This record gives sequence, structure tokens and C-alpha cells, in this order.
Amino acid sequence: MPDGLTAARSLGLDLETGDAQHFRGIRFRAGDHAVEASFPQGYGLGMRRTELHQLMVDRAAEAGVRMMWGARVAGIGPGRVMVNGGAARARWIVGADGGHSAVRRWAGLDGCERNSLRYGFRRHYHLAPWSEYMELHWGDGCQLYVTPVSSREVCVVLISGNPRLRLDAALPQFGELQRRLAGRQATPERGGISASRRLQSVYRGDVALLGDASGSVDAITGEGLCLLFQQSVALAEALEAGDLSRYQAEHRRIGKRPELMADLMLFMDSRTRLRTRTMRALESKPALFRRMLALHVGEVNPRQILKNGVALGWQILTV
Ligand SMILES: Cc1cc2nc3c(=O)[nH]c(=O)nc-3n(C[C@H](O)[C@H](O)[C@H](O)COP(=O)(O)OP(=O)(O)OC[C@H]3O[C@@H](n4cnc5c(N)ncnc54)[C@H](O)[C@@H]3O)c2cc1C
Repeated sequence: MPDGLTAARSLGLDLETGDAQHFRGIRFRAGDHAVEASFPQGYGLGMRRTELHQLMVDRAAEAGVRMMWGARVAGIGPGRVMVNGGAARARWIVGADGGHSAVRRWAGLDGCERNSLRYGFRRHYHLAPWSEYMELHWGDGCQLYVTPVSSREVCVVLISGNPRLRLDAALPQFGELQRRLAGRQATPERGGISASRRLQSVYRGDVALLGDASGSVDAITGEGLCLLFQQSVALAEALEAGDLSRYQAEHRRIGKRPELMADLMLFMDSRTRLRTRTMRALESKPALFRRMLALHVGEVNPRQILKNGVALGWQILTV
């Protein structure tokens, strides 16, 4: 998303290389309804995770990070990290070890203010991107989103609350998309857990958590990496100041908007009638969707959020 790209740039990460695909905005589709809007500024970028990973590794190496591939962290203690059977001394310990973070557990930071899970399954398809938009298709209790990841490939992700629901079982709900994708499968289906998780605290003593280890928003927002990059900048500043309470405050502030957007979007997840009415309301007043998207990528202030919320509510009631 554009705000994620801005945050990546502030870490010196240039993601504009290779075959990464620009997209200009988001399109929602639900049944016969469709609405789309462009980002107020900038664009989104789709790429394979493996490519993103390489760019991040190169940037870390350039910044002087010493990488220990294949090393497994087995525990932490005061001022030290147990790795590869030995102990490494550490002034600070940053747990960036994902949603199932062991560092979080070891530091006693598992306490949650909220914690709910959904399940994501993805597959790539040999198909030139057909749209300038990232498409989000709404079904009953599940969503499919389609992101261009190269000039010859799209990535399709299914997200739902049902761990047994797979792409092949969900696709018949989305007839047009199913027809497009037929016979174009390029990679096997892979699954992951998408957690909506807010921790009570993201640091204790000299240990701080970052990225999914520190909490996360539903994958439907497309904001996971943006949060990670923004948190990295905030953590670096807090470490420089020697004060992790600053990181805690900034982490909370950074997460508020994506959490709100995830809640708003998931409210439509299993409410078919509300979803249809909302789509009709947005179709009849596309400016509302434009402003929603601007809010999603952090381009509007809290007063405008309230104004847009009231206008959308009214439109849903009267459409
Ligand atoms: C289905 C799905 C789709 C998504 N789509 C998007 C999207 O389109 N855009 C977006 O921005 N975000 C998306 N996200 C969210 C995004 O993937 C995450 O927010 C992001 O990967 C978090 O990065 P991370 O580095 O915190 O954790 P991870 O990517 O999970 O990385 C953690 C790393 O820590 C390592 N590790 C763990 N334990 C140890 C140990 N003991 N010793 C050594 N290493 C260890 C792991 O091997 C791993 O490499 C999606 C998520 C899901 C589930």
C-alpha cells in the first residue's frame, strides 16, 4: 500500500525494482456490485514475497547487519540471547519472530487486549494482470483478493474464519474470477494464520517486539508490512533515546487506524444484506469510497473520518 512504501523508503528500502507491479487503487466486488477508487497519492506495489525478502536482505547487509542464516534462537536471558548452542550478549533484544513469537512468550508479553484468528490461503496464477486495481471480492463469510505480482502473474488470497475452507471450494462463489483463473495455476496452495491481535505491552526491560510478534491486523487490510516498517522507524528512535516507553506509545498510535479499518471491513464479513446495501451506497456515491480509501492509507484527519462515517451511514439507510 502507498503508506507502506513511504515507510519502507524511510528505512532506505527501495522496492521499485524488478518486475514489481504498480496498482492505482482498490476495487471492491460483491455479487453484481463493483466500486473502485484510486489512492489519493502514490500507488500500491505488488511483488512476490521472495523478491521483497531479497531486497530487505540486501538493504540490511548495506546497513552493516551481520546475518546468521539458519541460526535458531532458543531462549533469552538478562542481556543475552541463546543462539546456536551459545550465548550472545545484547544491549537490547528485539523479537521480530512473527505471529507465533517465542521471544514474546519468553519475555512474558503474551497478554492480549484482543486476539482473534482467521485463515489465509494463497496461490499464484500465470496470468497477466487484467486490472490497474487490487481487487477485493466479497463472498459469504470469506473474501478473495487479487494482487498483480509481476507482468505475468497474479496472487489470489482467500481469507475466512473457517480453517477448512480452501481456494477450490470457495472459487465457485466468484464465477467470473473462477473462469479467468481456470487452468492457470502456477504455485501450490499455501496457508497462513491472519491474527487480529493487540498486546497489552510491546516491551519489557530491554526486550521489544516488532512486526507480527508485537500484534497484527487482519490480512484483508494489506497493512501488515506497512506496520512493520513504521514500527521499525519508531523503535530505532526509541532505542537511540534509550527509552522503550516511547516505542510503546508510538506503536499504539501507529496501529489505531489499521485496526479501525479492519473492524469496519470485517463488520461486512458475514452480514450479506448489510454488505449489499453498503455496496449499493458506495456505487451511488463513489466519493464516499474514495474518502474511505484515503482514510485507509492515512490521508485524512479524524474529523473527516467522522464526517464520512455519518455520510456513509445515511447513504446505507436511504439507498
Ligand atoms: C494470508 C496472508 C496474506 C497477507 N498479505 C499481506 C499483504 O498483501 N500485504 C501486507 O503488507 N501484509 C500482508 N500480510 C501480513 C504480513 O505477511 C505480515 O504482517 C508480515 O509478514 C510480518 O512480518 P514479520 O517479520 O513480523 O513476521 P514473519 O514474516 O512471520 O517473519 C518472522 C521470521 O522470524 C523467524 N523466526 C521465528 N522464530 C525463530 C527462532 N526461534 N529463531 C530464528 N528465527 C525465527 C521466522 O523464520 C521468520 O522468518 C499477510 C498475511 C497473511 C497471513
